[in-house]
Amino acid sequence: MNEGVSAKDEAVGSSPPDSGPWEILVPGGHGTAFVAKSGQLVEIVDVEGQQVADFVAFAERNRTEWLSTTHTRSAVLRLTVQAGDRLESNWRNPMFEIIHDDVGRNDIITSMCDDRRYRLDYAVEGHRSCRTNFGEAEALEPWGIAEWQIPDPFNFFQNAPIHPDRTFGNEIPTGRPGDKLVLRTLLDAIVAVSACPQDLNPCNGFHPSPLLIRVLDPSVGTS
Ligand SMILES: [Zn+2]
Repeated sequence: MNEGVSAKDEAVGSSPPDSGPWEILVPGGHGTAFVAKSGQLVEIVDVEGQQVADFVAFAERNRTEWLSTTHTRSAVLRLTVQAGDRLESNWRNPMFEIIHDDVGRNDIITSMCDDRRYRLDYAVEGHRSCRTNFGEAEALEPWGIAEWQIPDPFNFFQNAPIHPDRTFGNEIPTGRPGDKLVLRTLLDAIVAVSACPQDLNPCNGFHPSPLLIRVLDPSVGTS
């Protein structure tokens, strides 16, 4: 990060260089998108703790292939993902592998927040949302990906415990400041991450906060 540049300015219009490490601070409630090449590591750092990272990705070679929670659930035979899991596309290609996970709680069941969620369930107009962060006017627009094309998200760090009766909860995340999740990229991908703006339920501890995203070449490794 460059000192003197506000976090919001950094999160808009930035992209990784062709090679070498790159990082961006995504302000709470905002999102970003970037390309991660096969072999590169993507680190997502929960800077202040208790923050969910909504994560979507498309194959760079073909936008009809995307990272799929449904196919990943079918591959891992589990209702969540953890270190060691490979995350699959809708074409059943592994796109990422989780190689490090400090928090150990991730949700692959619930939808991302959108403006309808805030309007219908909370009677709030104009609230920021993960879908608008990803959508046409925001992170994925430069790649020609429209809001309706955005797949269901991987909600890293989200605390949605699954109960014995197969219902699930929505609790304050357990992530502590500096906790991170690291993905190894297995397929060149357009990636988008949203620091979820939800502040009206426990999802982000009622206080959306920043995420630090790093893209590292494998020779650099993870700290
Ligand atoms: Zn959200």
